[in-house]
Amino acid sequence: MINFFYTDEYLNHDTGQHPESIERIKTVKKLIFEKYSNHNILTPTLASKELIYNVHDKNYVDYIFDNIPATGYSFFDPDTVACPQSLNSYLYAVGGSVESVDQIISNHNNKVFFCAHRPPGHHAEMNKAMGFGVFNNVAISADYALRSQRFKKILIIDFDVHHGNGTQHIFENNPNIFYASSHQFPYYPGTGDISERGRGNIFNCPLPSNCNSELFRELFSKHIIDKIEEKFDLLYFSAGFDAHKLDPLASINLDDEDFFWVTQKVLEKFANNIPVISVLEGGYDMKGLYNGLNNHLKVLQDYSNE
Ligand SMILES: [Zn+2]
Repeated sequence: MINFFYTDEYLNHDTGQHPESIERIKTVKKLIFEKYSNHNILTPTLASKELIYNVHDKNYVDYIFDNIPATGYSFFDPDTVACPQSLNSYLYAVGGSVESVDQIISNHNNKVFFCAHRPPGHHAEMNKAMGFGVFNNVAISADYALRSQRFKKILIIDFDVHHGNGTQHIFENNPNIFYASSHQFPYYPGTGDISERGRGNIFNCPLPSNCNSELFRELFSKHIIDKIEEKFDLLYFSAGFDAHKLDPLASINLDDEDFFWVTQKVLEKFANNIPVISVLEGGYDMKGLYNGLNNHLKVLQDYSNE
């Protein structure tokens, strides 16, 4: 049984003509209700400001809260647009990501979570909105999990086609949180070189433009699966589906089955019956998003039943 966090509030985060569109969450909702409706579908609650202060600078958080438009749109960076309802979407996305941790702590049978939300968060820096995202959902959740003292060593696997600069920067001096990312490189946001190692807890797997399945599997195995030997007690996915060959925002050519492969490979190596929280990042072609996510969820479903 997968536990999903989802709310229709995400349909109200209006970005206008934008790749990070309402269509994306409609597609994800359709998939969940078509194929996973017998799973546990939970509604998140709004995260508090105080929780977000643990990861993001207070001034920055206050700035976001104070600059949500009363009408029309605000831009927090050239790519990151807010409408009057956007703050709710931001806070539910953080809320679900953090409540997954609470649910795991309160009941050991809660092993697998998928946070179906928008906007994505992995580009959001401590003090800066970037790449469609304002608050770094996965970072706030992982930080919360570590503060709970129930988890000592956490791994974040980010297979979104873009490097998660925000997540890397937030944790690059934290030896208890490992961050591993495969991403098109050189490409937006410019970070993610293999030489960026933090305190030995950062693992980057750059992918060349036009990378196909075979090369992706070879490089992901070499730079992530075979490189990391630590044991973890909590695993996150920053699950983006924009490395799909149909995706308009990048030029990596993964097939639907590669999202099955990468999820399974990661679980086989790192998840010995530990809890898994997967949070949605990018994915901008609706067919690529639907099929890629379905493949990811099939593996999570099997794992949740083990
Ligand atoms: Zn992306």
